[in-house]
Order: sequence, then structure tokens, then C-alpha cells
Amino acid sequence: MTKAVTGTQPGLPAGLLAELREVLGAPHLLTDPEVTASFTTDWTGRFVGATAAVLRPSSTAEVAAVLSACRRHGVALCLQGANTGLVGGGVPLQGELVLSLRRLATLGPVDPLSGQVTAGAGVPLADVQATARAAGWAYGVDMASRQSATVGGTVATNAGGLRVLRYGDTRAQLLGVEAVLGTGQTVSHLAGLVKDNTGYHLPSLLCGSEGTLGVVTAARLRLVPPAPERVVALLGFGGVGPAVAAAGALRRRLGSLEAAELFVADGLDLVRRVTGAGPPFARTHPAYLLVEAAAASDPTDDLAQAIGSLEAVGDVAVAVDSVRAAELWRYREAHTEAINTLGAPHKLDVTLPLGSLAEFMDRVPGVVAAVAPEARCWLFGHAADGNVHVNVTGVGPDDERVDESVLALVADYGGSISAEHGIGVAKRRWLGLNRSEAEIATFRAIKSALDPDGVCNPGVLLPN
Ligand SMILES: Cc1cc2nc3c(=O)[nH]c(=O)nc-3n(C[C@H](O)[C@H](O)[C@H](O)COP(=O)(O)OP(=O)(O)OC[C@H]3O[C@@H](n4cnc5c(N)ncnc54)[C@H](O)[C@@H]3O)c2cc1C
Repeated sequence: MTKAVTGTQPGLPAGLLAELREVLGAPHLLTDPEVTASFTTDWTGRFVGATAAVLRPSSTAEVAAVLSACRRHGVALCLQGANTGLVGGGVPLQGELVLSLRRLATLGPVDPLSGQVTAGAGVPLADVQATARAAGWAYGVDMASRQSATVGGTVATNAGGLRVLRYGDTRAQLLGVEAVLGTGQTVSHLAGLVKDNTGYHLPSLLCGSEGTLGVVTAARLRLVPPAPERVVALLGFGGVGPAVAAAGALRRRLGSLEAAELFVADGLDLVRRVTGAGPPFARTHPAYLLVEAAAASDPTDDLAQAIGSLEAVGDVAVAVDSVRAAELWRYREAHTEAINTLGAPHKLDVTLPLGSLAEFMDRVPGVVAAVAPEARCWLFGHAADGNVHVNVTGVGPDDERVDESVLALVADYGGSISAEHGIGVAKRRWLGLNRSEAEIATFRAIKSALDPDGVCNPGVLLPN
């Protein structure tokens, strides 16, 4: 077992914890290391921090009071939702106090006219989906961490997920935010006007800012019309190239296409070993595409026709009921958990121009082996978005040779070093591969305007 990347814990100014206890109430300031341990280690186990206390406010006013006290005392905060982030951005690696936003869990009613809802930062994604569904709408963002990942976390990371090809990322759903900025000011713009050209669009700025500018306390979310009739199919291909080409062809032919997920034979083997699932087909294929179509009326015939027109499909399995659909989805969704059973992985979530995706995926194992022959490489992703999750196991948590080589290869192809998980602490050294000096200087200017004392997530996103 390799050692995790760990943080340090400086002393705290006298009186700060007493002041914060006064603001939050004693039960919501946690100091027992056994209780705070789950807040200081990230989901992958690669990043382990330390903290003197976890603070659990229940309102925007309490968040503002905490921020103001911390600014006065010069103490930094590590902002945290459900701690499902995969780039180490939500754990206190510099000994920050943890500001857990999960108690901001108010979920308003769905506005039936506009199809919008206001959700507190701590509301889990699955609750937004369920509330939307009960009101005859749907929420366009979905991902395997849905039961825990919070609205605040998804806004802060601009989470993507499984439905981006149809509905866009979290930013595309965001009509307004409420936030306490690092300056201590509260900004609240939650009216949800679809057309609202009144200056800088703060929701877009805060979305994807990874907690470096302030604390998102609530969001006004756009819902989409429901598509209750669904069909799921798994397709086997002779390689990644034909699978990616098929995803493009299906997208063009099938307006109801909602997901096109890619994985390869190694990953399927691992998932089957960990979950005990049977094989999807009698024979193995080098690459697989899991597709889902959803519409108001049954899209099965449309999907069958579209699949029938594809070239180079080896095998097809169509789920005729929801149990089988869940089984097919599990082959893809269980990848993240299955890889974690091999030890703390390096997670490199990248986007390539679609035309280069197959070549990149072919080359990555060789590039990894050249610097770390002991490592294993696991590749899966969102085919239609050009997004592949490069997971590397068998290397130490702070051994960055693999990250360096893979991210340099991404840059050579003109790709992005972070498709949807963010930069966090894991990738900030390499931000310059995608962002020019002028862009990074602009980022720093925004950071110092909105968080002048560096209270919010000081070690995240921006390079040292
Ligand atoms: C099994 C699994 C599958 C996943 N699949 C996907 C996927 O398909 N697509 C995808 O995009 N991600 C995916 N993720 C990553 C993760 O779920 C998302 O990044 C999610 O948005 C994080 O939400 P969270 O509440 O857990 O945030 P955290 O992990 O707690 O925090 C993430 C970042 O946001 C900041 N933050 C959190 N809350 C706030 C707030 N209220 N205000 C300001 N900053 C805040 C934190 O400081 C940190 O930098 C997956 C994770 C797992 C474990």
C-alpha cells in the first residue's frame, strides 16, 4: 500500500473556535479526529489532509459569519460538499478549517411555468432529479455519484456526466446563484429570468471556480422536459475508432440519444471481477459503447434502425426492461469503484478532439509504461464528448511522472487536461498546458478581487 499525499496542520488563533461555536452551535463544530477523518481524506484515498475543525453551517447568514470570522483571524477554509470530487480540491491539505455545506439542504418547489427549481448547495443531485421527476420535469445533469454529490459541488466543478451530449454541463443548467464571496459579501441572483443581460454573468464565473472565489450557497436550476420512455443498448466493436465513429453517427441520426459511453475490454474484465457480473456477449470485443435513447414515446424502433445503419458493430445487446438496462449501465458505471479497489489511482480526466480520441487512447498505455513500467492504465469515458478518464494504478500518490507525460500528450493533441473534474490540487502544476500566461494572470486578478485574503480554497486551481 502506498502512502497518500498528506497535509499539515498549523495552530489556530486563540478564540476563533469559540467564536465559530457561537455562530454554529456546538453540535455543528466537529473536532473529534474520528469524526473529522471522513472530511479530510478524498474519495480516491490519494489525498489526505488534516484539520482542527469541521464547520457545518445551516444558512447563508451562518456561512457569511464564518467567512467573516476567518478573514479577521487570517484562517483559510477548505470548502466541501459531499467530498466525491476526484482532484483533491475538497480536502484540507494545508490544514484549513473544513467548511461543509451539506446542511444547506433546502430544495424549493418546482416552478411549473418556467420549469425551474432553487436548490441549496447541500442538496444531493439525486434529490434534484427526484423532485423534478415528481413535478413532471427532469434535471439534465446525471452521474454515478448522484446519491451524494451536492448541487454546490456540481456548480463549483461545473460537473459534466452522462447526459452532456444532450443537455450540456452544469453551467448550461444554471440560471442564477447565491454565494458568499471571499470578500464577505453575499450576492443573490435567483429570479431565474431566462433573458437577463445586465452585466457580468456571476453564475458562469462561479461555476467551475472550484471554491476559489467564494461559497456557493444556492443555485437556480433549469429543468428539461421529461423523456420517460428509455431504451439502453450495449454495442461491441473491433476498436475504439469504430466505437467513436458510431457514437457520432448515432448522435446525428437520433435526436433522442442521451448517452454514449465508452469502455474497453480490460475495464470490463475488471468490473466483472469486482462486481461478479456475467459477460455481456459470448465473445470479447476490444471496445464497447453503451447508448441510451430517451423520448416521450418508446424510442426502441428508432434506436434499432439507427444501430442497423451502423458499420462495424460486432454484437448488440438491447435491454428490454429496467433490470437489464441497470445491468448494462453497471458495466460502465462500476468502473470508478472497481478501479479504486486496486489502490489510490491517479485520475486524469481529459478531452481530446474527437478525431484524435482513438489514437490518443492507443498511445496512452505506451506513454505510461515508458515512465512507470509497473503501472496499469484504465481508460473509459464519454465518447460523444471526446472525454476519456485515464486512470493509472500502481504508482505512488505523489509520483507525478505519469501525470506529466499523459497531460503533455493531451496538450500535443490540442486537448484539455480537465474535461469535467476540475484542476483541484491534482493538476494545478499543469494549468499552463491549457491556459496562457495572460489567462492565468486574469484568473489571479479575479481571485484577488473576489477573495482578497485568500480565505477560500487557497491551494486549489491556480499554480503556486
Ligand atoms: C463514482 C463517481 C463518479 C463520478 N462521475 C462524475 C461524472 O460523470 N462527471 C463529473 O463531472 N464528475 C464526476 N464525479 C466527480 C464528482 O462527483 C463531481 O466533481 C461533483 O461535482 C462533486 O460534488 P461534491 O458535492 O462531492 O463536491 P466536493 O467533492 O465536496 O467538492 C468539489 C470541489 O468543489 C468545491 N465546493 C464544493 N461545494 C462547494 C460550494 N458549495 N461552494 C463552493 N465550492 C464548493 C470544493 O472545494 C472542491 O474544490 C464522480 C465521482 C465519483 C466518486
